[in-house]
Amino acid sequence: MYESEFFTVKEQSCPCGCNAKVNQDTLKKFDNLRKEFGKPIYMEQMATCKEHSLSIGRKETSTHIDNGSGSHAGDVKHKTFKLKEDYFNLIRCAVKVGFTGFGQGAFWVGAGSDKRFHIDDKRSSTGDFRSWAYGISKE
Ligand SMILES: [Zn+2]
Repeated sequence: MYESEFFTVKEQSCPCGCNAKVNQDTLKKFDNLRKEFGKPIYMEQMATCKEHSLSIGRKETSTHIDNGSGSHAGDVKHKTFKLKEDYFNLIRCAVKVGFTGFGQGAFWVGAGSDKRFHIDDKRSSTGDFRSWAYGISKE
């Protein structure tokens, strides 16, 4: 079993205390991202079980859910970004090491205060990169 060089078991684990795990290849990618980025990256959440994911309002298809082969996502903590350029650099490094899904808080696209930043390695059904934003008011 692959052990992460940079991310703690707590960062990888579901908050409910279950056995949900991060997919091994995805975990290697996150380590490669950390090496490429060259500075600490702090994770808010990586793997969850389906029950926990639904309990916090995520969809059943969330890439955080470990449905047997491990989860495919990490939510980067705000404190990872000391400067706005860190955010752009993180995206550059993430694409380079093979990540393909980016959920960006409204703050990062200049449309609000939500600073969440989700990274995963799933592609769309047509094989494309996926990108979306959190917390933008529809008013
Ligand atoms: Zn759980």
